[in-house]
Amino acid sequence: MSKSNPFEGAQLQLKEAAKYTKVPSWIIELLSGPERQINIRFPFKKDDGTIETVNGYRVQYNNWLGPYKGGLRFHPEVNIDEVKALSFWMMIKNAVVNVPFGGGKGGVEVNPKALTEKELERLTRQFAFELAPNIGPEVDVPAPDVNTNSMIMDWIVDEYENYAKSNPKIKNKYTKNQVKAVITGKSLKNGGSKGRDEATGLGGFYVLEELVKKLKLKKPLTVAIQGFGNVGSHIAVLLHDNGYQVVGLSDSKGGIAAQNGDGFNIKMVQACKLEKGMIDECYCVGTVCDLADNNHANITNEKLLAMDVDILIPAALEGAINAENAGKIKAKVILEMANGPVTAEADKILAKRKILVVPDVLANSGGVTVSYFEWVQNMKGVSWELEDIRNKLKEKIVKAFDEVFAVAKKKKVTLRTAAYIVALERLAEKSCPK
Ligand code: NAD
Repeated sequence: MSKSNPFEGAQLQLKEAAKYTKVPSWIIELLSGPERQINIRFPFKKDDGTIETVNGYRVQYNNWLGPYKGGLRFHPEVNIDEVKALSFWMMIKNAVVNVPFGGGKGGVEVNPKALTEKELERLTRQFAFELAPNIGPEVDVPAPDVNTNSMIMDWIVDEYENYAKSNPKIKNKYTKNQVKAVITGKSLKNGGSKGRDEATGLGGFYVLEELVKKLKLKKPLTVAIQGFGNVGSHIAVLLHDNGYQVVGLSDSKGGIAAQNGDGFNIKMVQACKLEKGMIDECYCVGTVCDLADNNHANITNEKLLAMDVDILIPAALEGAINAENAGKIKAKVILEMANGPVTAEADKILAKRKILVVPDVLANSGGVTVSYFEWVQNMKGVSWELEDIRNKLKEKIVKAFDEVFAVAKKKKVTLRTAAYIVALERLAEKSCPK
């Protein structure tokens, strides 16, 4: 992945969009940095009794539209510039999809894959204990992101509930259900919402279907997907089931490409990845594993990004498509399911090459939309059915897509700039200094 600074890239995107709005310059200036950033340096006790120091962050970027909202990432390369960029994009995203949340994001600099489950729980609980005074159902609402899941969210809620019990202001203000609204992406048994796991992939799928209709593209369309975690695997299944041919897949250890035929059977690849732990061991999935089988080939992530497909979906980390490889992309459409997968330099190269980029702040906004539904259910003490959630998500994200598409057409700008214009105008309406 590129080493370019994602926060600097995010600021270039902001300045570009500002040129097309009448938003006052003081607002653009204010939105060029976060309201608050919290560094949490904390002790972590390993199973063998040794104690290490770990760095964690929470950036509360802006709360004009509502409580700060955004995921928590566990990754060895987490750093403050990355978290700042991610929290900025959350602010834009929440405004684009029109949910009453501000922008926030957090991260812990750790490799969770090297920890035992007990260590992961101890680390999470210590971080949550230190973070608790800074978050709350109407203050800041974290959620899962890379390498975090509902189990981790449940530990954080548990720590927050302990904090709330000893804090009369919180205890008297909220019911037990409402206290759980401090985190979204929880397990179902702990106040989570139906449909949260699939939400980001499903939202991206709805956006892509709208684009295909608008551009009158003919199916079957070929797709390559980088990243096969929560987001990548959910969208892969949906595309496979709805007339697309998924012909390239990868994870952090490598990828596979289908040489001919209808693309991969995604459910089989999922089962194989679960068994073998990595995707490039799965090239012969569904058949006897035979090196003579030339229908599938192992490929590097670089080659996957340069595959000759209709649609490329980066669903891993930021900076995957950068100044070095943007010239090699052959796809006609890039659907950004990861946050910040295309650097600002690459964006310019792709625009010149007439490759259409559907920006992260629209394409992956399904996750936070269903997080909002989870928050509402907790705050109101109700529980919605899966079909209901899917319909509400579709309605919201298709509306956001239509708005962004119309602005792009009217102002003759990229979809990213159009999304930022929509967001900035919505934010400007709510900015009200005393
Ligand atoms: P995840 O941890 O479930 O999966 C990440 C995937 O990316 C894994 O398959 C991993 O192997 C792969 N990966 C990591 N480094 C890679 C590399 N260098 N090359 C290729 N693949 C690599 O995470 P996720 O929740 O699926 O998130 C993926 C992206 O989507 C992130 O950018 C995240 O911020 C964004 N996102 C997630 C959500 C959500 O609801 N989970 C919502 C919006 C945006």
